[in-house]
Amino acid sequence: MNTHKTLILNSTFQPLSLATPQRALALLFSKKINVLKESDIKLRSVGQSVAIPKVAVLTYFVKAPYARRVALNRENIFIRDSYACQYCSNAAESIDHIIPKSKGGSHEWSNVVACCKKCNLLKADKLLNKTSLNLKIIPKIPEGNFWIKTIIGNNPDPDWKEYLVLT
Ligand SMILES: [Zn+2]
Repeated sequence: MNTHKTLILNSTFQPLSLATPQRALALLFSKKINVLKESDIKLRSVGQSVAIPKVAVLTYFVKAPYARRVALNRENIFIRDSYACQYCSNAAESIDHIIPKSKGGSHEWSNVVACCKKCNLLKADKLLNKTSLNLKIIPKIPEGNFWIKTIIGNNPDPDWKEYLVLT
């Protein structure tokens, strides 16, 4: 559950992480963030009432996110492929190995795509050129700010949207 969490932006305004209300207020009191948007929820702290930030920007630069490796798992493949079958664009329900494992295909980002049930049945254990299916994109390892999507999830707080320029 991401409700009440604060979207923390790096000093460059790149999305960085989500913070709990307690963490956000600790950052605020130690002057490590500037609040860009407040929520309606207030916490009483040190005798005063403070609004939990919805979005805040760090006052200093954190070097890290680009080096973060995105785990190759079902959920992250679905996020990369926008929950759509990469053969027909219908809702994805499973993962397809483009070169089947039984034919030496490896389990890596370039060989896996989100896939619907129908295409999965058509594809079965065949090589792509032995089917009528075509890939819409060449699957790649996710880059840029992808990992923030895996933190924020599929339904980000609407108040975060303008700050979530994802590449
Ligand atoms: Zn499909």
